[in-house]
Amino acid sequence: MKTMIISVFFLSVVLLGACKQEEPKTATTPPVVQQESKAAKVDSTIIRSKDVDVASLDKNKDGKVFQCSMDAQVISDTPGTCPICHMDLSEVTVAEAQENMK
Ligand SMILES: [Zn+2]
Repeated sequence: MKTMIISVFFLSVVLLGACKQEEPKTATTPPVVQQESKAAKVDSTIIRSKDVDVASLDKNKDGKVFQCSMDAQVISDTPGTCPICHMDLSEVTVAEAQENMK
């Protein structure tokens, strides 16, 4: 009887071990999702058209927006990264941002 218990225990350990070994296979998918969320950080919707009204982009109405110093059409109301050149956006006034786009 004791040997049967031991063999059942051994068998379940082997089965559990087999299940645990298969886990990493399914766990290889999440890193891909993480990469996608990383890419989503770069928001291409902040690329504006040339005739955009910068004041309307200043959602919190503090008179400041964040603009790429290389790509004047990249304007966001929140700090971020330029989706074109990946530089950090710099804080400028609405008037400055509008001027830079000319
Ligand atoms: Zn840029």
